[in-house]
This record gives sequence, structure tokens and C-alpha cells, in this order.
Amino acid sequence: PDVGVGSILAGAAARYRDRVAFRHRGEELTFAELWEAACRFATALAHRGVGRGDVVALHLPNCLAFPIAYYGTLLAGGTVGPTNPLLPPRALAEQLADCDARVVVTHGGVAESLREADVEIVVTVDPRDSVSLDFHQVVAAAPPTRPDVEIDPQADLAHIGYTGGTTGRSKGVLLTHRNVVANALQYACWGSGGVPSLDDSGEVTVTQIGDETEWPSRLGTGVTLNLTPWFHAMGLGGLNIGVLSGTSVTVHDRFVPRDFVADAERLRVTSLSGAPALYAALLRCEEFHTADLSSVRGLSSGAAPMPRSRGEALAARFPDAVITEGYGLTEATMGVTTNPSWRSGTRKVGTVGVPLFDTEVRIVPVGGDPERDALPPHTPGEVCVRGPQVMQGYHDRPEETAAVLDRGWLRTGDIGVVDDEGFVSIVDREKDVLLYKGYNVYPRELEELLLTVPGVASAAVVGRPAADVGELPVAFVVRSGDADALTAEAILTAVNEQVPPAKRLREAHFVDVIPVSAAGKVLKRELRDRLR
Ligand code: ATP
Repeated sequence: PDVGVGSILAGAAARYRDRVAFRHRGEELTFAELWEAACRFATALAHRGVGRGDVVALHLPNCLAFPIAYYGTLLAGGTVGPTNPLLPPRALAEQLADCDARVVVTHGGVAESLREADVEIVVTVDPRDSVSLDFHQVVAAAPPTRPDVEIDPQADLAHIGYTGGTTGRSKGVLLTHRNVVANALQYACWGSGGVPSLDDSGEVTVTQIGDETEWPSRLGTGVTLNLTPWFHAMGLGGLNIGVLSGTSVTVHDRFVPRDFVADAERLRVTSLSGAPALYAALLRCEEFHTADLSSVRGLSSGAAPMPRSRGEALAARFPDAVITEGYGLTEATMGVTTNPSWRSGTRKVGTVGVPLFDTEVRIVPVGGDPERDALPPHTPGEVCVRGPQVMQGYHDRPEETAAVLDRGWLRTGDIGVVDDEGFVSIVDREKDVLLYKGYNVYPRELEELLLTVPGVASAAVVGRPAADVGELPVAFVVRSGDADALTAEAILTAVNEQVPPAKRLREAHFVDVIPVSAAGKVLKRELRDRLR
């Protein structure tokens, strides 16, 4: 049956057959080849009794085996459990146990340490031991037919995705085939300049807006480079969007800005996407400013806030490109909003845009009722989301699920505001907001100000607990190469003269780097630990 996430690849294989889907270290996979390999892997799983409801963990860096194993698992009716390939063995074993993985697809480097984990089948892409199966042999030995598996898209799980663990332990997020397909469609329509609408009979139609050539990923013409790790919600969402829209993706499993820029120029890429940290690194790279990147029509950013100054620098470098900022979270498959608006094409700098098609956003007081307590525009509160991409719950965590899911509404834990036209701005994460003498201090506001101080390359603000008053804002700052003379006092003065007393920074510490996660998010936990 043509339902479920596997149908994304089935459609792409039929439409874009011999077009390159993925390229990595000189090897290429066309859409047709990817389909065939995924069907073979699905059949191989089915022959081993792996099917509906079984979790297949993908513990791989971005490589060509990843999309084969991903779609193969889904075509077999299994559930994909992506894990961070940098997890140390103990944490990996815990996560595999947490999601009850029956199968792990991995690389030789870790296969040995998986002996301890309670996993039935280990398949490795470069086997160095005798216990695991060789991924390439498994694929080659199976027939290229799609297994006959009935999928219920509303109930069957496509992913158990893990949250980034930015604020605490990663939680397993249950996402159905419907969740994943809906979110990919919401973005792919947008990215190709198509506005989906529902007519009276319930049929979805897609209309092109604006000058169709200006959109980054017109179906079957996009070329892009991938860097976002596929184990993460943004990476996995991007994988499906790329396949759905027939985009040729060249995978960089390691980020060397100069090589990245050289490939972007050589391949005439049409779009770039990544976390704000990627763009910060590119903007620091000399070649990024001199290479011929005139083929780039779209740049998209997500996963973390894009500082205004960085967005402006990108807009100056690509005056004719569509620059998009999206907001999302693993609990909403990947995405919730996008900027510019899919309704009008309008972009509002500093916002994350409007809710995607078929998605509602309401701002409510923290702990309030999304049905009754929606706040008026311009009033900060917790961002609540309802739409077809919202998860079914956390795996095996009923209390945590009940705390965030309420009659279809997801409480995101992010503080945001909407304006009169429904554009959403993310003010900060609730867990990062500091409380000083009863005042809310938003670190993000201070970070934006820090980035306007000449010589500050990047910055993050966390709270230092202080008896009686709550928390005092403390900055960690990376100086740019030519700013050795910049002092902590100068930074404090520059920022503090722009804020009321309650928000004043109390300390500034210079560091070589601000720690970020694999998905490009600032790890404030680590900074707080350093203060201790
Ligand atoms: P954990 O919940 O385990 O701490 P995490 O929050 O990093 O991990 P993700 O799902 O990877 O889990 O990240 C989602 C979060 O990223 C959002 O809740 C939000 O705080 C932040 N985020 C994503 N996009 C944006 C954006 N455009 N602007 C600001 N914040 C963003």
C-alpha cells in the first residue's frame, strides 16, 4: 500500500529515477538505486523476522548506508531509532535498551562494544569482527522487492527520535508515519514555493507563489550539501524533505569550512541548510566570501536561534536568496513554523515565521490551558503547538508525556510571542530563563546585545545562583581573532548601559569556544557546570 514514510521514497524513485539522490566521498546513489537497496534491506529484515513494531537503531554517521537502512526499516514496517554516533558505549547501551532495539545498524568501530547490549542482530557497514552481519552483503543477497507489509500510518511508529538532551537527559519521542509524512509535506510544499490549501471536498491542492524560479528547491532541481547529523530531528526531517523534493544531496560527514565552500561552488548548490553555528563558521571562513556561490537561491536555518547580526551578514552575502528561519523540536517531528510565511512570502527578520500549513500555535501563561488561556499578541508565554506533526508521547514516560501533551496540544517549553499577523518570535527556552528578584531575565536578549559589541565573535549567557536574589546573568564570550585588547569590563559596560538594572550582566569570562551539541545547540548545562 502506498502509505507511510516509505511512499516518500517510492514516489521519488519513480519521478527522479537516475538523478543523484546522495553523494558521499566519491560514491553516488541515484533515487532508483536508493529505492532498490532500501527494498533489499527491507526484505532482508523481513526474512529475519524483523517487522512491524520492531525497533532498528541506526548508529551511524551520515553516509550512504544511512538512507538505505532508514527507508529499508520503514518499508519493512519497523521503527527507526536513530542514535548519536558520538555516544559513548555506556550511553549507547542505555539508549538501545530504552527504545528496546532488536537490530542495530552501525560501523565496525562500535560493533564490539555492543556485545554487552541486549540486541539480537548487529549489522555493520565495515565489519571488523565475526559476530555482526555485513550490511553490504545483507543488502546484496536480498531480492529487490518491497515486502508486503500493511502499515497503519496513524498508529505505526516510524521513529523513536531522541531529543537533543540540551537541557537534560534525552527522551525518546514517539512519531508515527503520519507525523513524519505530514511534516515532510509541510516543508517540501513550502520549499518549492507551493502553498497547500484544502478545498471543500477535502482535497489538498498546491499552488505556486511568487516567481517560481526564486524558490530554493523547485521539485527535481535542487542541489545541496548536507552537514546536519541525520540522527537528529532536523537532519532526519531534512533527509525526507530532500528525497520528497528530488534534491541531490552531497554529504559532508566532517565540517571543514573551506572544503564545504569549495564543494558548494563546484556543485553549483542551490540551497544550504543548517544550525546558526554552521553559518557562523562559514562567515568566519575567507573562501566563503570570495567563492562564486551565485547558484545559491535559498539558505535555511533552524534548531537554535539565529542572532540578528548573523542573519544580516548572510543577507548581505546573498542579497537575492530566500533566507529562511524555521523553528521546531523533536516532539513536533521537526518543524512548527517557517519564515517567510508560506501564505504570503513575507519575511520578518527576528521572527521564526508563521505556523506551517495545518498547524496551530498558541501562546499561553506557563502551565495555562491552551484551549482557554491564549494570550493576546505581543505578550510572552509558553509556545503551544497542535498539528499533524505533534508526537504521540515520550517512550515509557507517561508522567512526562502528560506534562507536555494536552488534548492534542504540545507544550514546547519555549517562551515566545506572536505579533498581530501571527508571526512567532522565540524569546528563550523556559529552562534557560533566569529569575532575578522576581524579574524574568532572558539570556537570549543579552546574547543579542553581546554580539553587537565589536570584537565579540560568539557569546552565551547563563545564571549564577545567588542567595536571596535568584540568579545573576554571567556571560561567556569568544573574542574574534583581532580583538585581544577587548576586556571583560568593556563588554559589561557596553551591554549594561542598554538594559535596566535587573538584567545587568555581572561577569564576563573569555573562552576559546562555546560548547555546542552535535546539532549545533549551545550546551548551557556545561557552562553552568563551569561556574560551579
Ligand atoms: P532536550 O529537550 O532533551 O533538552 P533539545 O531541546 O535540544 O533537547 P531538540 O528537539 O533538538 O531538543 O531542540 C528543540 C529546541 O530547539 C526547541 O525547543 C527550541 O528551544 C530550540 N529551537 C529550535 N529552533 C529554534 C529557532 N529557530 N529559534 C530558537 N530556538 C530554536
